[in-house]
Amino acid sequence: MKLYNTMSRSIEEFNPIAPPAVGLYACGLTVYDYTHLGHLRKYTMDDVLIRTLRHAGYKVQFVQNVTDVGHLSSDADTGEDKLEKGAKKYGKSVWDIAREFEAYFFRSMDLMGNARPDVSCRATEHIQQQLDMVIELEKKGFAYVIEGDGVYFDTSKVDDYGKLAHLDLEHLQEGARVERVEGKRNPTDFALWKFERPGENRAMVWESPWAKRSFPGWHIECSAMAIHYLGDQFDIHTGGIDHIPVHHTNEIAQAEAATGQKPFVRYWVHHNFLRVDGEKMSKSLGNFYTIDDILKRGINPKALRLLFLTTHYRSEMNFTWEALEGSQKAWQKLAKMVLQFRAEEGRTVLSQEKLDKIDEYRKRFFGFMEDDLKTPEALTVLYEVVKSNIPSSDKYDLLGEFDEVLGLGFRQLQETATEMPIITDLSTVPAEAQQLLAQRKTAREQKDWASSDKFRDELVKLGYEVIDGPTGQQLRQIHPVSETGQ
Ligand code: AMP
Ligand code: ZN
Repeated sequence: MKLYNTMSRSIEEFNPIAPPAVGLYACGLTVYDYTHLGHLRKYTMDDVLIRTLRHAGYKVQFVQNVTDVGHLSSDADTGEDKLEKGAKKYGKSVWDIAREFEAYFFRSMDLMGNARPDVSCRATEHIQQQLDMVIELEKKGFAYVIEGDGVYFDTSKVDDYGKLAHLDLEHLQEGARVERVEGKRNPTDFALWKFERPGENRAMVWESPWAKRSFPGWHIECSAMAIHYLGDQFDIHTGGIDHIPVHHTNEIAQAEAATGQKPFVRYWVHHNFLRVDGEKMSKSLGNFYTIDDILKRGINPKALRLLFLTTHYRSEMNFTWEALEGSQKAWQKLAKMVLQFRAEEGRTVLSQEKLDKIDEYRKRFFGFMEDDLKTPEALTVLYEVVKSNIPSSDKYDLLGEFDEVLGLGFRQLQETATEMPIITDLSTVPAEAQQLLAQRKTAREQKDWASSDKFRDELVKLGYEVIDGPTGQQLRQIHPVSETGQ
């Protein structure tokens, strides 16, 4: 197995500390809003990595946190608390927000076919481990208190601070990466523990040696929980590329300072971003999509998974609905073929030539997967197998084995899995739906958007999603989740 290690900026041979055991920590979600497609990409590719390691014989211990406290709006310990922000936005308590969006996250993961972590750990349930680490850091002289603000990590005490991000500390200015905090000794110093400000009235506070009402900084939770579950040193840590310069840089500094062990992590795996129509995904741009937006359009989440697999995890990916529609077609075709291979009973004795061929396909496919997850190349091998002249039953077996790492659900396919097409012949839908379509068309011609939306909602109740395509209105059957092949 080979993996790209952000620390060395190169693809390295994967040598875990105690094979076949592999300790893997994945930065989890900050549960203050809906899980979106960008998150889905990151966690799906984590899942593909874990599946690939397991297929290669490693016994992976997969730990993933839930950030339900302590993440301020900016990475630099300033701005509003994200959980409090979510609570205000949805008019609920911070605790409700945290639990609801955590549940939404796991529902999204399940629909994508991502395996649950072996350990899912909430920051709020590991306050003691985090406190112990900060106390240890203070004892060892790595931490200092800013009155009325918090406990900070002194980055000048670490000679290799910023090694992951290759930070140019001499030229680093507060502002671009770090915001000014009164009392900080160095621009890169970061909060380990924060104190509640007078009148703040936070819902989540704990008593600490420094203040009665206080709470952890964001970075400390990952180091503390990773060490708690995986030990002072472990094999793989994953996250998005946005975590390289601050979050992971700080995780390394505090973990190595507290334990005195280097390296904290052997392989740093970072996922590139998903963009939407060339823009960053955000609510204000109206391009913030969730798993439910996918389902509402009648798209099987496995089609989204297939789409993710067509781009290498270290490349930026641009999401468009057109690309997803295309992927849905490709997925449907694939699923149909797999069902056909499965249906063709009867096993033949294979010639040596065919056996060699199967072996070669298998070697090439897993060769790509085990070479830093080259999923686009692995998919081309998959399509070669589909088109090849090896017997159907052997194709089915081989595709099933490939699918152990791809997670497209080939072995769980039901006959209905492929049937979520756009209805092009509108005369086939019930009269009630046709009437609503006609009414909606008229409303839109009169720019009566309120009525147009009302008719759209009526159609959804009947089980149809309206799509305004180039040829006018089209319909798509919306299947209940249970019928989408999950
Ligand atoms: P957060 O809750 O913001 O810490 O994000 C959870 C994980 O999702 C982090 O590892 C982020 O890097 C990753 N992430 C957030 N937005 C995107 C995106 N648009 N594309 C890919 N990964 C993302
Ligand atoms: Zn983290």
